[in-house]
Amino acid sequence: VNNISVDVAIIGAGPSGAIAASLLNQLGKHVVVLEKQYFPRFSIGESLLPCCMQFIEQAGMLEAVNQAGFQFKDGAAFRHQDRYTTFDFTDKFTPGPGTTFQVQRGKFDKLLADTAIQQGVEIRYGHSVKQINLTDSPLLTVSNELDEIYQVQAKFVLDASGFGRVLPRLLNLEKPSNLPLRSAIFTHIEDNINDPNFDRNKILISVHPEHKDIWYWLIPFSDNRSSIGVVGEPHLLANLEGNLEQQLMTIVHQEPGLKQLLVNAKVIQDCATLQGYSANVSTLATDKFALLGNAGEFLDPVFSSGVTIAMQSATMAVNSLVKQLNGATINWQTEYAEPLMKGVNTFRTFVQAWYDGRFQDVIFYQQANPAIKQMICSILAGYAWDQNNPFVAESERRLNTIVELCKEPNDA
Ligand code: FAD
Repeated sequence: VNNISVDVAIIGAGPSGAIAASLLNQLGKHVVVLEKQYFPRFSIGESLLPCCMQFIEQAGMLEAVNQAGFQFKDGAAFRHQDRYTTFDFTDKFTPGPGTTFQVQRGKFDKLLADTAIQQGVEIRYGHSVKQINLTDSPLLTVSNELDEIYQVQAKFVLDASGFGRVLPRLLNLEKPSNLPLRSAIFTHIEDNINDPNFDRNKILISVHPEHKDIWYWLIPFSDNRSSIGVVGEPHLLANLEGNLEQQLMTIVHQEPGLKQLLVNAKVIQDCATLQGYSANVSTLATDKFALLGNAGEFLDPVFSSGVTIAMQSATMAVNSLVKQLNGATINWQTEYAEPLMKGVNTFRTFVQAWYDGRFQDVIFYQQANPAIKQMICSILAGYAWDQNNPFVAESERRLNTIVELCKEPNDA
């Protein structure tokens, strides 16, 4: 096998890798994407946020995504016991798309990757990145499907390897997350939901009746199927009995609303579990590499922000990278890492407030001021980088002010 030389080597062909590759290719840069697996492959992360449609459009992939037959999504619904509330993503503070899709990620990620290939991007499936040498310009050691080793010389490396976290591992950048360890158990079901009030256009987030820090997702697809999952701290899920499917169904049936909704549901896929998926790094980028999406920090799935952060990071990194490739000096800390973290930290504020219950009180508050609800809706729709939104600019302070206003009388 031959060694190759490119402008940019991208590790991983998931959403962040495909979007970055497409944008760089449009700008005339020579990229190669090295993807360990073969597509379609299963991935978790099936509910998109409207904000990410902008990045899909910039990458010239909007038509392909719009025509693929995915489940339309226009908001999020939340339920805790008899409290039920919805957020309509078109009624938000920040301009931009207000609708998106719920997607089977195998199909969605393949669509993005295939579209990038049609645009001229080279994706090498079955090629796994094993080592990196940063002494001069980056040099990757890659193993192909025949276990043959070759090298890729690049001017820059984008790590889009998701939970593979290739560069954090190889370069010792891994840092523990400041969020507690949590587990998820999930599967796909034939949902057979016939409740006329059930809104397939929204993700349903249900809260466990007794444990406010255990929550469930129900993400309907367009084919009578849904993704279902539960998230909680491991000790809260530990006393569930039986195999994974029995454990999942036991806890799903503890939530009366879900139990009723899913009375005719059939599990159609092996249940899976993930634990300790929250992760952090000490460095997001230097003048030789940048970490995109989950290869950098992953917070928590509760607001479905993963793919949006992945695509946002791809777009921001490409903007800086193109300037660098064209001869400018880039300060990756101030031009990439800090602006990216602004939005990630906004999500962090809301994630932490979700688990300690503060944000749940806000979500279920019935007398919400419409202007405030639009600002919160913007964040839930993924627009966590809009500095015009006070809940982005000063997320913790603003959120705490609202929390006080939304406290139920008996909380005082
Ligand atoms: P990925 O999509 O993970 O792609 C990385 C690619 O890199 C893979 O294809 C992998 O094969 C490849 N790779 C890995 N190692 C190597 C290597 N050594 N060499 C070459 N290639 C390699 N996000 C949402 O937006 N909505 C949700 O509803 C949602 N729900 C979630 C639920 C749970 C329980 C969890 C844990 C996460 C959820 N997420 C959700 C997050 C979402 O899964 C990720 O944020 C998203 O997939 C990140 O995309 P990515 O492009 O960074 O990486």
